[in-house]
Amino acid sequence: MQKICVVPGDGVGSEVIDSTLNILECLDLPLSFERTVVGIESFEKNGAYLTDDALSLASDCDAILFGALTTPNDRNYVSPLLLLRWNLELFANVRPAKCLNPEFCLSPLDLVIIRENSEGIYGGMERELDDGKIVTERIVSEAGCQRIIDFAFKYAISNSRKKVSCVHKANVLRASDGMFKKLFYGSAVNYAFYNKIKSDDCLVDAAAMYLCKEPDIFDMIVTLNLYGDILSDEAAGLIGGLGFAPSANIGEEHALFEPIHGSAPDIANKDVANPTGSILSAAMMLEYLDMTNKAAVIWDSVKAVYSDKNKWTKDIGGNCGTEEFTWHLRNEINQQAANR
Ligand code: ATP
Repeated sequence: MQKICVVPGDGVGSEVIDSTLNILECLDLPLSFERTVVGIESFEKNGAYLTDDALSLASDCDAILFGALTTPNDRNYVSPLLLLRWNLELFANVRPAKCLNPEFCLSPLDLVIIRENSEGIYGGMERELDDGKIVTERIVSEAGCQRIIDFAFKYAISNSRKKVSCVHKANVLRASDGMFKKLFYGSAVNYAFYNKIKSDDCLVDAAAMYLCKEPDIFDMIVTLNLYGDILSDEAAGLIGGLGFAPSANIGEEHALFEPIHGSAPDIANKDVANPTGSILSAAMMLEYLDMTNKAAVIWDSVKAVYSDKNKWTKDIGGNCGTEEFTWHLRNEINQQAANR
């Protein structure tokens, strides 16, 4: 029995996690679930957004299933998600954007973005100078770049992808992004030779434009932290919106799975949040735990549900709230499981 640490978090986090657990429950999996409170509720109860107990539970479990967090108006706030990524060394953020039905996608996209997750500009190193200017430091290391490049090519091989594009801003950030691009091509030669994986590179501003205009020029993107964060939201827009995009945060010893959206306070507690991104994140978790058949049941069932307009969620113009969509998906999964 493998143990999953469940962190619902704030806002729509608990709604999409309840839906996801409901779906996992009907798959009869050898998993046990342990919930922990992180975020604003934890701060109100314990005086810390991420307690030592929550961190130690997360690191003891085989995987973490995470909802979403609200950023409070607190100068000293450091996101528990960032703390988990740093403490558990979750260096690779895998963000697939796969169109489930061309009727509600702007593009029939099937793209995977691999985002460096442990360095870059999200390190929390901001300081105010005497003249009031703010300095934000950005870390880009050779080891960090090489690690994410290798991860991306290995992912490409094991998932039968055809091309990896390096997205950067090396024309301006010559030392940092220039190193990233150089290391990328250093590795690409080997992967192209042995595994026939193609490679190219693109400036991040051009990549943002091509994602809108000709998204199918991309198959996989490997990129640095900030660029990956922004481009993956753009890619989600092409496949129906933030509610559709799952993600995995992977390290050598730990892994955390979460939808890419935030806590969306504007729609919280209204039964309108789309739980698809969270449910597909759980499918990615099952792949990570070597339960690929069960993961495939989730992906196939989600696709089947979205083939029927009567079962569409509200964010794409359908009528189903979170609970009704979950109910349809559960029925589909039970049917698919019975037929396999
Ligand atoms: P963060 O900074 O944590 O990413 P945010 O408020 O900027 O948070 P989100 O919480 O991701 O961004 O949401 C942006 C908007 O997208 C929300 O206001 C909401 O309307 C929509 N949205 C996000 N998640 C979902 C979802 N699961 N289902 C439907 N709509 C969603």
